[in-house]
Amino acid sequence: MWCSRLLSYPLSWGQCSSYRARAALAQLNHVLEAELESIRGAGTWKSERIITSKQGPHIHVEGSRGEILNFCANNYLGLSSHPEVIRSGLEALEKFGAGLSSVRFICGTQNIHKNLEEKISRFHQREDAILYASCFDANAGIFEALLTPEDAVLSDELNHASIIDGIRLCKANKYRYKHMDMKDLEAKLQDAQKHRLRLVATDGAFSMDGDIAPLKEICSLAQKYKALVFIDECHATGFLGPNGRGTDELLGVMDQVDIVNSTLGKALGGAAGGYTTGPKALIDLLRQRSRPYLFSNSLPPSVVGCASKALDLLMESNAIAQSMVAKTRRFRSKMAAAGFSISGNDHPICPVMLGEARLASVIADDMLERGIYVIGFSYPVVPKGKARIRVQISAVHSEDDIDRCVEAFTEVGRKHGALP
Ligand code: PLP
Repeated sequence: MWCSRLLSYPLSWGQCSSYRARAALAQLNHVLEAELESIRGAGTWKSERIITSKQGPHIHVEGSRGEILNFCANNYLGLSSHPEVIRSGLEALEKFGAGLSSVRFICGTQNIHKNLEEKISRFHQREDAILYASCFDANAGIFEALLTPEDAVLSDELNHASIIDGIRLCKANKYRYKHMDMKDLEAKLQDAQKHRLRLVATDGAFSMDGDIAPLKEICSLAQKYKALVFIDECHATGFLGPNGRGTDELLGVMDQVDIVNSTLGKALGGAAGGYTTGPKALIDLLRQRSRPYLFSNSLPPSVVGCASKALDLLMESNAIAQSMVAKTRRFRSKMAAAGFSISGNDHPICPVMLGEARLASVIADDMLERGIYVIGFSYPVVPKGKARIRVQISAVHSEDDIDRCVEAFTEVGRKHGALP
């Protein structure tokens, strides 16, 4: 057999197919190298710093000496390494094993999964809840299961990537309204009157700017135009609102928001997992139709144990959430007094607006030199000219941690001309 005109000797069938496989791999590598080079060339390469300790306000990072003050985790309440959360995870691991080796509907549902779903719906004051392996999955699984080509979905243009992907998967008519622009949303709701169901989808709090969706206005437009309201509460659950229930509690519209998706991977223990909570009929439908739920493994017991304890702690007292609020105010007011511009409204995501990408990057590097871990964001993650350093406050930062961070920003900001 002659494998290729280039070869002047005959090959067996086996040799020939392995030659083809190697040629295909070489071609793939060529394509991938070009793609990777274009990412490097565009300056958007993401590298990962390696943490060698537990997640928390003080961490150890490979390549940096001593303890680093961490201001860039979504560990808003400090529960990622809370001793009771860890103990509860360990107990669940001991009692219920490492994992289920199954999806929920085959043989992957334990009583702890049902108990956690009940606790989540009680926490959010909704009828029922369903767990997913992540909130990305919850967002990927809801729109396709719920909406048909007869329906419409109206989505804020700055919604999280997982909402965008979830909407891509569904066959409903799609409308994208300008960020928090209620005039634009109303115009799109008017156009969408011709469809059967209308669903407005928005992040409760937006993670790049720390700004909060105008839920009061969204809900009143939804009432006027007979639409449902869906919110993604990943950056709100556990700490926004007087009892940490989220953006809907903060803005007094818990009874008007129909569906809440959120994560267990940020404030609620920080391990992993996501969920949808809302009307029972919707949750029943998701258990039948939602593909990431049906075709992916059950949450591991240790993860369920951690999240369950995190919710217990929050339902016992709002002290942790309130402590985060006080620390956020301290950071925002001290930074403003130092002359920095911080975007967003009272959210623990505190973007320090710097403008130029290079400035954000050198300031973040210099902060790390001073033992403070923050991350710069620039185009294309945020618009051109709006580069920033996103600082995230946690309930477990001490006042001294906050003050050290402000002092370092002031010093480094002056050095690089970001402050007079
Ligand atoms: N939605 C928002 C707004 C997020 O910020 C994230 C995570 O970054 C997700 C969804 C996905 O959550 P998870 O990490 O649970 O998949």
